[in-house]
Amino acid sequence: MKSLHRESLVIHGGESPTDPHGALVSPLYQTSTFVFPDAETGGRRFAGEEAGYIYSRLGNPTVNLLEQRVAALEGMEAGAAAATGMGAVAAATMAFLKAGDHVIASDCIYGCSFALFSHLFERFGVHVSFVDMTDAAALASAFQANTKVVFVETPANPHLKIIDLKKVGQVCAKHPEVRLIVDNTFMTPLLQRPGEFGAHLVVHSATKYLNGHGDVVAGVITGSLEDIHLIKMTTLKDMGATMSPHDAWLITRGLKTLALRMEKHCATAAVVADFLVAHHAVAKVYFPGLKSHQGHGLIGSQMASAGAVIAFELKGGYQAGVQLLNQLEMIRVAVSLGDAESLIQHPASMTHSPLTPEAREQAGITDGLIRISVGLEHVDDIIADLAQSLQQLETHTKHTPQSEVTEVENV
Ligand SMILES: *Cc1c(COP(=O)(O)O)cnc(C)c1O
Repeated sequence: MKSLHRESLVIHGGESPTDPHGALVSPLYQTSTFVFPDAETGGRRFAGEEAGYIYSRLGNPTVNLLEQRVAALEGMEAGAAAATGMGAVAAATMAFLKAGDHVIASDCIYGCSFALFSHLFERFGVHVSFVDMTDAAALASAFQANTKVVFVETPANPHLKIIDLKKVGQVCAKHPEVRLIVDNTFMTPLLQRPGEFGAHLVVHSATKYLNGHGDVVAGVITGSLEDIHLIKMTTLKDMGATMSPHDAWLITRGLKTLALRMEKHCATAAVVADFLVAHHAVAKVYFPGLKSHQGHGLIGSQMASAGAVIAFELKGGYQAGVQLLNQLEMIRVAVSLGDAESLIQHPASMTHSPLTPEAREQAGITDGLIRISVGLEHVDDIIADLAQSLQQLETHTKHTPQSEVTEVENV
């Protein structure tokens, strides 16, 4: 199966033609437990002497198929499915940690990963250093004798910051006891395979592109057989954030169109980014596809494409951000990403509203920052919706005294 292209692996990866009725689509094993033919078989399965299912928290055929498919896509030996992306992040990291250990994480990571590392880990005696990993020397000097995990997310919110995985992989290779774990949610294995650059484990929020249909929260971890076995037999099994068979079945279905979806998402996002760059009401656009972007140089080597999440800064600040969202007609105001629907959010009033304006400023979450996950609608409709809403902002600002200043700046 490894010789198939990724466009075929999304459909066939990990499949085994064992269905007694020859079903094309692998059935949904919606069952909590599995009946042993006799007591001795049950005993052998528990002792690990015989393959076979026991109980769905320990393994389920529908979940297994998804795990093997994502592993094949990532070019990894094995996979473990989790109830959510955060279940995957927690299970993958904590399997390699104990009190007194140290973690190095990139300084821009998903909010709940940051909360897990900086609050919960500290409570259990694990210290985390957050490092700007665009600086390989900073990463190299952050290692301590007790460092066990390096965690990287690329591209990362809010500015789609990109980290050179090859450089990170080279630094980590000097520390063979350390696991390099990469959150590949924004790229999917279609656009980026961190294992090729030395990542030991790759985690996903399958809620996003892998499923792609906005109807599931889920996560997946891929890695070596040995590491995945450890995760399945410790953190995943005992903390219990395993994936339900129904969710696995839906994601397996969603995955079949991943290649088509990513191609369309990315092509549309590139056009939307150009539209935003040219718009008067927009001060700055953060999109790896733009030459001005910090990580642009890694497109073509590390990542096949720029992805389909764009951040942009409105000249009108906080009020303009709220207004832009409220005036949209088709684009849905929601957090999350990777769905068929274009989703837009305003971090200052939503995801990052609990922070003080000063803390937001420090994190680079300016008041006029907007994030859009470009969906699968017709590109003209996405742009028309943004254009009509941006146009109203301009009309509005023309009636306020500040508008003169804005207009002068525009020229
Ligand atoms: C959404 C997300 C997560 C968390 O996933 P859930 O499925 O919401 O638990 C982790 N990392 C990234 C990059 C995400 O976008």
